[in-house]
Amino acid sequence: MRVVLLLLVLFCARVQATDPHSFSNFTLVSHPELKLDLTADFDKQQLQGFVELKLDWHYPDARQLVLDSRDLTIENVVGQSAEGRWHRLSHSFGDKSRYHGQALLIEFPAQFPVVRIYYHTSPQASGLQWLTKEQSSEKQQPFMYSQSQSIHARSWIPLQDTPAVRLNYQARIRTPKQLLAVMGADNSANTEKDGDYFFRMPQAIPAYLIALAIGDLEFKAMSERTGVYAEKVWLDKAVAEFSDTEQMMQVATALYGDYPWGRYDLLILPASFPFGGMENPRLSFITPTVIAGDKSLVSLIAHELAHSWSGNLVTNGSWHELWLNEGFTNYVENRIMEQVFGPERALLERQLSVQDLENDLLQLDAKDTLLITDYTGRDPDEAFTQVPYIKGMLFLQFLEQRFGRAVFDPFLKNYFQTFAFQSMDTEKFLRYMRKTLLNDPDIVSMGEVLEWLYQPGLAGTFVAPESDAFKQVDLQLELWQKTGNLAELQTNSWSIHHWLHFIGQLAATVDIAQLQQLDQGFGLSQSKNAEVATAWFKVALAKNYSKAIPALEQFLLKVGRRKFVVPLYLQLSQNPEYLEWAKNLYQKARPGYHPLTQSAVDKVLKLN
Ligand SMILES: [Zn+2]
Repeated sequence: MRVVLLLLVLFCARVQATDPHSFSNFTLVSHPELKLDLTADFDKQQLQGFVELKLDWHYPDARQLVLDSRDLTIENVVGQSAEGRWHRLSHSFGDKSRYHGQALLIEFPAQFPVVRIYYHTSPQASGLQWLTKEQSSEKQQPFMYSQSQSIHARSWIPLQDTPAVRLNYQARIRTPKQLLAVMGADNSANTEKDGDYFFRMPQAIPAYLIALAIGDLEFKAMSERTGVYAEKVWLDKAVAEFSDTEQMMQVATALYGDYPWGRYDLLILPASFPFGGMENPRLSFITPTVIAGDKSLVSLIAHELAHSWSGNLVTNGSWHELWLNEGFTNYVENRIMEQVFGPERALLERQLSVQDLENDLLQLDAKDTLLITDYTGRDPDEAFTQVPYIKGMLFLQFLEQRFGRAVFDPFLKNYFQTFAFQSMDTEKFLRYMRKTLLNDPDIVSMGEVLEWLYQPGLAGTFVAPESDAFKQVDLQLELWQKTGNLAELQTNSWSIHHWLHFIGQLAATVDIAQLQQLDQGFGLSQSKNAEVATAWFKVALAKNYSKAIPALEQFLLKVGRRKFVVPLYLQLSQNPEYLEWAKNLYQKARPGYHPLTQSAVDKVLKLN
């Protein structure tokens, strides 16, 4: 009786564990193994072939498999019976949903162990970008890459597209002969370019970490287990810029335990890549906009590497709780930066992060400033604000400061090891904290923890990071404004971080003449550092400083990273003087942007 009751409870728990951003019925049947066989057709801008799913049925009466899909054309579905015979299976689509694509329903006469789906993708697939050769960095060969997070894997593979379940995969990818395919899997550095590539991902990952890129790529090793894939124009520059990757790995493993994925390589994408980086396992996808020539933006590599523990190993179970991926990752990133580049730089980066968060907090609805935010019925890509990243990091820093590193570091290491290759939710994390960390309310009380987790904005226990370096910058800014003498700004010793802090203060305090003086003195409109350039363009637009506009135009035509592009278009759209100009510019730039950037800018310019 107790066994029956227990089974019933377990079954109910599984049935209830659903993800509002997935149609899939993974509680009834799941696919622990996936096999891809795809051909990349650059003329049609589509992937064509099949996916084979090994099925694990969890409930005796289940006869239907529900997968996620978006803009896929299904050609044929067959299932293999336990006896090994193949049968054609009927399938249908559910209603189209604005954010989630469509359910793909497959009917089975019995619980077959294998299903194979023949399909092809659409040129508009939200998770793929197809670039013409002119849009690649070298301008010699076409390029394509995937970006599956958050729910875009379904636009190139019909599957259970939820971080609540994990899978292993194998893949065979056919490409034009002169191109190289790479995946977030075991890539052989010695692969000959022959247009036929095989991959295996032996560790179980959620669907959003399946990743593919195809281009005129070359490889260069940085250490025995790290290296760079890139188009030739970036290869040596990237190897020089990211030469600290091996040391970052050593720091992270000393803190949080063995690196569980084998190799760690970087793939440099064309400038249209919509993100800074994507933590695809074994092969982080990286924007070239962080190759600044002076390692000033390499915290991005520390960030993507940190995901090897937070996110890829212990994964948020739904996009409502993205902070479990990103907050932990930003915390680990900052610890890596501190050890590799020193405490001063780590402090400045924390301080700049807090400024970014404070900007977001001013603009977001209060309900979206909680660490756990309900995105049901919304696009889960909206969850990627500074809140899960920076507020999540600040919460962990609060715990670190109160408990001390001697206690907090082993706690975090054990957390990653205890929940390795599992999906996590905040309640589970809280239970784990109660058991292993929160044993003295005089150090940290439950009320303090709950405020961080479940209240909007910054908690009352937040202590703002403060550096003398930025105080000095503020003093110099004041002196320059008083005297008009540019020599008051002693910028020789400034790093990019000082500059970012400096430019961040300008909108509130300067006029056009002063902006012009700065621009003449320091060439800020022409900055080759994408972070500095963007910060400067924002001030220029806020102050109607039109001399920056030609440089802004060039920037927006070249770069497609959403973090830079979307706020700039937003600012342009709010200024009647620039709205039409921005729309015209966007028509030119749009074909070079990724579908995710396109839809974000379409929204900002109210084009859809
Ligand atoms: Zn991240």
